[in-house]
Amino acid sequence: TISFRGVRKSYGSHQVLSGLDLDVAAGEKVSIIGPSGSGKTTILRLLMTLEQPDAGSIEVDGETLWHEDGFDVRRMKLVRRRIGMVFQHFNLFPHMTVLGNVTEAPVHVLGQERGEAEEHARELLGMVGLDKHLDHKPGQLSGGQQQRVAIARALAMRPQVMLFDEVTSALDPELVGEVLGVIRELAHSQSMTMLLVTHEMSFAEDISDRVLMFDSGAVVEAGHPSVIFHEPGEERTRRFLSAVL
Ligand code: ATP
Repeated sequence: TISFRGVRKSYGSHQVLSGLDLDVAAGEKVSIIGPSGSGKTTILRLLMTLEQPDAGSIEVDGETLWHEDGFDVRRMKLVRRRIGMVFQHFNLFPHMTVLGNVTEAPVHVLGQERGEAEEHARELLGMVGLDKHLDHKPGQLSGGQQQRVAIARALAMRPQVMLFDEVTSALDPELVGEVLGVIRELAHSQSMTMLLVTHEMSFAEDISDRVLMFDSGAVVEAGHPSVIFHEPGEERTRRFLSAVL
Protein backbone atom coordinates (compact mmCIF):
# COMPACT_ATOMS: atom_id res chain seq x y z
CA THR A 1 0.00 0.00 0.00
CA ILE A 2 0.98 3.58 -0.63
CA SER A 3 -0.22 6.37 1.57
CA PHE A 4 0.23 10.13 1.32
CA ARG A 5 -0.87 12.19 4.33
CA GLY A 6 -1.06 15.96 4.20
CA VAL A 7 1.69 16.14 1.59
CA ARG A 8 2.64 19.62 0.53
CA LYS A 9 5.07 20.54 -2.20
CA SER A 10 6.01 23.88 -3.69
CA TYR A 11 8.52 24.88 -6.31
CA GLY A 12 9.61 28.32 -5.13
CA SER A 13 6.42 30.25 -4.43
CA HIS A 14 4.35 27.96 -6.67
CA GLN A 15 2.41 25.49 -4.55
CA VAL A 16 1.83 22.26 -6.47
CA LEU A 17 0.40 19.99 -3.74
CA SER A 18 -1.48 21.62 -0.88
CA GLY A 19 -2.02 18.78 1.59
CA LEU A 20 -2.54 15.67 -0.49
CA ASP A 21 -4.11 12.57 1.10
CA LEU A 22 -3.97 9.53 -1.13
CA ASP A 23 -4.14 5.77 -0.54
CA VAL A 24 -3.39 3.08 -3.07
CA ALA A 25 -3.97 -0.53 -2.01
CA ALA A 26 -1.47 -3.30 -2.71
CA GLY A 27 -2.08 -4.66 -6.21
CA GLU A 28 -4.38 -1.82 -7.18
CA LYS A 29 -4.05 -0.23 -10.66
CA VAL A 30 -4.70 3.48 -10.39
CA SER A 31 -4.63 6.07 -13.17
CA ILE A 32 -4.23 9.77 -12.50
CA ILE A 33 -5.76 12.09 -15.08
CA GLY A 34 -6.11 15.86 -15.17
CA PRO A 35 -4.87 19.01 -16.81
CA SER A 36 -1.25 19.78 -17.51
CA GLY A 37 0.58 21.37 -14.59
CA SER A 38 -1.86 20.06 -11.97
CA GLY A 39 0.83 18.13 -10.08
CA LYS A 40 0.34 14.58 -11.37
CA THR A 41 3.99 13.95 -12.20
CA THR A 42 5.05 15.41 -8.87
CA ILE A 43 3.18 12.60 -7.05
CA LEU A 44 5.24 9.96 -8.85
CA ARG A 45 8.50 11.87 -8.41
CA LEU A 46 7.88 12.13 -4.66
CA LEU A 47 7.36 8.36 -4.45
CA MET A 48 10.58 7.83 -6.37
CA THR A 49 12.30 10.24 -3.92
CA LEU A 50 13.34 12.39 -6.88
CA GLU A 51 11.62 15.23 -5.04
CA GLN A 52 11.22 15.87 -1.33
CA PRO A 53 7.91 17.06 0.16
CA ASP A 54 7.76 20.23 2.24
CA ALA A 55 5.37 18.70 4.77
CA GLY A 56 3.35 15.56 5.49
CA SER A 57 4.30 11.92 5.23
CA ILE A 58 4.57 9.23 2.60
CA GLU A 59 4.53 5.53 3.48
CA VAL A 60 4.96 2.41 1.39
CA ASP A 61 3.79 -0.86 2.96
CA GLY A 62 3.75 0.80 6.36
CA GLU A 63 7.37 1.94 6.05
CA THR A 64 8.20 5.60 6.06
CA LEU A 65 9.55 6.93 2.81
CA TRP A 66 9.35 10.45 4.03
CA HIS A 67 8.21 12.11 7.23
CA GLU A 68 8.52 15.77 8.10
CA ASP A 69 9.68 14.88 11.62
CA GLY A 70 12.60 12.92 10.26
CA PHE A 71 13.41 9.78 8.37
CA ASP A 72 16.18 7.31 7.88
CA VAL A 73 17.93 7.71 4.52
CA ARG A 74 19.20 4.13 4.49
CA ARG A 75 15.70 2.74 5.03
CA MET A 76 14.29 5.16 2.48
CA LYS A 77 16.67 3.76 -0.12
CA LEU A 78 15.57 0.21 0.66
CA VAL A 79 11.90 1.14 0.36
CA ARG A 80 12.56 3.00 -2.91
CA ARG A 81 14.09 -0.17 -4.32
CA ARG A 82 10.66 -1.78 -4.29
CA ILE A 83 9.43 0.91 -6.68
CA GLY A 84 10.11 0.98 -10.43
CA MET A 85 9.48 3.97 -12.65
CA VAL A 86 9.13 4.47 -16.39
CA PHE A 87 9.53 8.04 -17.59
CA GLN A 88 8.17 10.02 -20.52
CA HIS A 89 11.67 10.17 -22.01
CA PHE A 90 13.09 6.69 -21.84
CA ASN A 91 16.33 7.63 -20.05
CA LEU A 92 18.17 4.49 -21.21
CA PHE A 93 21.95 4.31 -20.94
CA PRO A 94 22.90 5.17 -24.56
CA HIS A 95 26.32 3.47 -24.57
CA MET A 96 24.97 0.13 -23.29
CA THR A 97 23.20 -2.60 -25.19
CA VAL A 98 19.58 -3.46 -24.55
CA LEU A 99 20.67 -6.45 -22.45
CA GLY A 100 23.19 -4.27 -20.59
CA ASN A 101 20.51 -1.68 -19.77
CA VAL A 102 18.27 -4.33 -18.23
CA THR A 103 20.98 -6.12 -16.22
CA GLU A 104 22.82 -3.03 -14.92
CA ALA A 105 20.79 -2.39 -11.77
CA PRO A 106 20.19 -6.03 -10.73
CA VAL A 107 23.95 -6.66 -10.94
CA HIS A 108 25.23 -3.38 -9.48
CA VAL A 109 22.48 -2.46 -7.04
CA LEU A 110 21.13 -5.86 -5.95
CA GLY A 111 24.42 -7.71 -6.39
CA GLN A 112 22.84 -10.41 -8.55
CA GLU A 113 25.15 -12.76 -10.38
CA ARG A 114 25.45 -11.68 -14.03
CA GLY A 115 24.25 -15.00 -15.47
CA GLU A 116 21.14 -14.94 -13.34
CA ALA A 117 20.46 -11.27 -14.18
CA GLU A 118 20.85 -12.00 -17.90
CA GLU A 119 18.48 -14.92 -17.76
CA HIS A 120 15.82 -12.79 -16.11
CA ALA A 121 16.51 -9.92 -18.55
CA ARG A 122 16.05 -12.22 -21.56
CA GLU A 123 12.76 -13.40 -20.15
CA LEU A 124 11.55 -9.82 -19.62
CA LEU A 125 12.78 -8.67 -23.03
CA GLY A 126 10.92 -11.61 -24.56
CA MET A 127 7.79 -10.53 -22.73
CA VAL A 128 8.02 -7.00 -24.19
CA GLY A 129 8.75 -8.41 -27.65
CA LEU A 130 12.42 -7.43 -27.92
CA ASP A 131 14.26 -10.74 -27.74
CA LYS A 132 15.73 -10.07 -31.21
CA HIS A 133 17.32 -6.79 -30.11
CA LEU A 134 19.42 -7.82 -27.10
CA ASP A 135 22.69 -6.57 -28.59
CA HIS A 136 21.37 -3.34 -30.07
CA LYS A 137 22.09 0.08 -28.63
CA PRO A 138 19.12 2.30 -27.74
CA GLY A 139 19.94 4.64 -30.64
CA GLN A 140 19.27 1.80 -33.10
CA LEU A 141 15.74 1.31 -31.80
CA SER A 142 12.45 3.13 -32.38
CA GLY A 143 10.97 5.17 -29.55
CA GLY A 144 8.39 2.46 -28.90
CA GLN A 145 11.09 -0.18 -28.66
CA GLN A 146 13.17 2.02 -26.35
CA GLN A 147 10.19 2.54 -24.09
CA ARG A 148 9.61 -1.23 -23.96
CA VAL A 149 13.27 -1.67 -22.92
CA ALA A 150 12.67 0.92 -20.18
CA ILE A 151 9.71 -1.11 -18.93
CA ALA A 152 11.80 -4.32 -18.90
CA ARG A 153 14.59 -2.46 -17.10
CA ALA A 154 12.24 -1.33 -14.35
CA LEU A 155 10.74 -4.84 -14.02
CA ALA A 156 14.21 -6.37 -13.70
CA MET A 157 14.33 -5.05 -10.12
CA ARG A 158 11.20 -7.09 -9.32
CA PRO A 159 9.36 -4.04 -7.98
CA GLN A 160 6.20 -4.27 -5.92
CA VAL A 161 5.08 -0.92 -7.28
CA MET A 162 5.41 0.38 -10.85
CA LEU A 163 5.02 4.05 -11.73
CA PHE A 164 4.35 5.12 -15.32
CA ASP A 165 4.65 8.82 -16.10
CA GLU A 166 3.01 9.71 -19.42
CA VAL A 167 5.09 7.01 -21.03
CA THR A 168 3.62 7.45 -24.51
CA SER A 169 3.58 11.25 -24.71
CA ALA A 170 6.93 11.49 -26.47
CA LEU A 171 6.14 8.77 -29.02
CA ASP A 172 5.02 9.01 -32.63
CA PRO A 173 1.33 8.08 -32.73
CA GLU A 174 1.89 4.80 -34.57
CA LEU A 175 4.21 3.59 -31.77
CA VAL A 176 1.84 4.30 -28.88
CA GLY A 177 -0.18 1.09 -29.23
CA GLU A 178 2.74 -1.30 -28.80
CA VAL A 179 3.77 0.34 -25.52
CA LEU A 180 0.23 0.53 -24.12
CA GLY A 181 -0.20 -3.12 -25.13
CA VAL A 182 2.74 -4.15 -22.95
CA ILE A 183 1.44 -2.18 -19.96
CA ARG A 184 -2.09 -3.53 -20.45
CA GLU A 185 -0.69 -7.06 -20.40
CA LEU A 186 1.21 -6.31 -17.18
CA ALA A 187 -1.85 -4.76 -15.56
CA HIS A 188 -3.97 -7.78 -16.36
CA SER A 189 -1.41 -10.44 -15.43
CA GLN A 190 0.66 -9.10 -12.54
CA SER A 191 -0.17 -8.53 -8.92
CA MET A 192 2.07 -5.49 -8.54
CA THR A 193 0.63 -2.11 -7.62
CA MET A 194 0.54 0.27 -10.59
CA LEU A 195 0.20 4.03 -10.54
CA LEU A 196 -0.03 5.71 -13.93
CA VAL A 197 -0.20 9.30 -15.09
CA THR A 198 -1.75 9.20 -18.53
CA HIS A 199 -3.56 11.16 -21.20
CA GLU A 200 -4.73 7.93 -22.87
CA MET A 201 -8.29 7.81 -21.63
CA SER A 202 -9.53 4.57 -23.19
CA PHE A 203 -6.38 2.83 -21.98
CA ALA A 204 -6.95 4.20 -18.45
CA GLU A 205 -10.54 3.02 -18.58
CA ASP A 206 -9.47 -0.44 -19.66
CA ILE A 207 -6.72 -1.14 -17.14
CA SER A 208 -7.61 0.83 -14.00
CA ASP A 209 -9.35 -0.32 -10.86
CA ARG A 210 -9.71 3.34 -9.95
CA VAL A 211 -9.19 6.68 -11.66
CA LEU A 212 -8.22 9.90 -9.91
CA MET A 213 -9.19 13.18 -11.50
CA PHE A 214 -6.62 15.67 -10.37
CA ASP A 215 -6.65 19.46 -10.60
CA SER A 216 -4.64 22.22 -8.93
CA GLY A 217 -2.82 19.84 -6.62
CA ALA A 218 -5.85 18.00 -5.27
CA VAL A 219 -8.05 15.02 -6.10
CA VAL A 220 -11.26 16.43 -7.58
CA GLU A 221 -12.96 13.06 -7.87
CA ALA A 222 -11.96 9.41 -7.63
CA GLY A 223 -13.83 6.32 -8.63
CA HIS A 224 -14.26 3.32 -10.86
CA PRO A 225 -13.37 4.14 -14.49
CA SER A 226 -16.95 3.45 -15.62
CA VAL A 227 -18.11 6.24 -13.29
CA ILE A 228 -15.34 8.75 -13.93
CA PHE A 229 -15.49 8.41 -17.72
CA HIS A 230 -19.22 7.93 -18.21
CA GLU A 231 -21.04 9.53 -15.31
CA PRO A 232 -18.64 11.82 -13.44
CA GLY A 233 -20.07 13.60 -10.44
CA GLU A 234 -18.00 16.73 -10.72
CA GLU A 235 -18.40 19.52 -13.25
CA ARG A 236 -14.59 19.93 -13.34
CA THR A 237 -14.20 16.30 -14.46
CA ARG A 238 -16.90 16.70 -17.15
CA ARG A 239 -15.20 19.82 -18.51
CA PHE A 240 -11.79 18.15 -18.59
CA LEU A 241 -13.12 15.03 -20.34
CA SER A 242 -15.08 16.96 -22.91
CA ALA A 243 -11.89 18.87 -23.77
CA VAL A 244 -9.72 15.76 -24.20
CA LEU A 245 -12.08 13.13 -25.58
P1 ATP B 1 2.15 17.70 -17.03
O1 ATP B 1 1.03 16.90 -17.58
O2 ATP B 1 2.39 18.97 -17.76
O3 ATP B 1 3.41 16.94 -16.75
P2 ATP B 1 1.56 17.53 -14.24
O4 ATP B 1 0.17 17.52 -13.78
O5 ATP B 1 2.29 16.24 -14.25
O6 ATP B 1 1.62 18.23 -15.63
P3 ATP B 1 3.73 18.46 -12.61
O7 ATP B 1 4.75 18.03 -13.60
O8 ATP B 1 3.59 17.68 -11.38
O9 ATP B 1 2.31 18.56 -13.32
O10 ATP B 1 4.02 19.97 -12.29
C1 ATP B 1 3.16 20.79 -11.52
C2 ATP B 1 3.64 22.22 -11.59
O11 ATP B 1 4.92 22.35 -10.99
C3 ATP B 1 3.79 22.75 -13.01
O12 ATP B 1 3.33 24.07 -13.04
C4 ATP B 1 5.27 22.68 -13.26
O13 ATP B 1 5.67 23.68 -14.16
C5 ATP B 1 5.86 22.91 -11.90
N1 ATP B 1 7.14 22.21 -11.71
C6 ATP B 1 7.34 20.90 -11.81
N2 ATP B 1 8.63 20.58 -11.54
C7 ATP B 1 9.26 21.73 -11.24
C8 ATP B 1 10.59 22.09 -10.87
N3 ATP B 1 11.54 21.17 -10.72
N4 ATP B 1 10.86 23.38 -10.66
C9 ATP B 1 9.90 24.33 -10.78
N5 ATP B 1 8.62 24.07 -11.14
C10 ATP B 1 8.30 22.80 -11.36
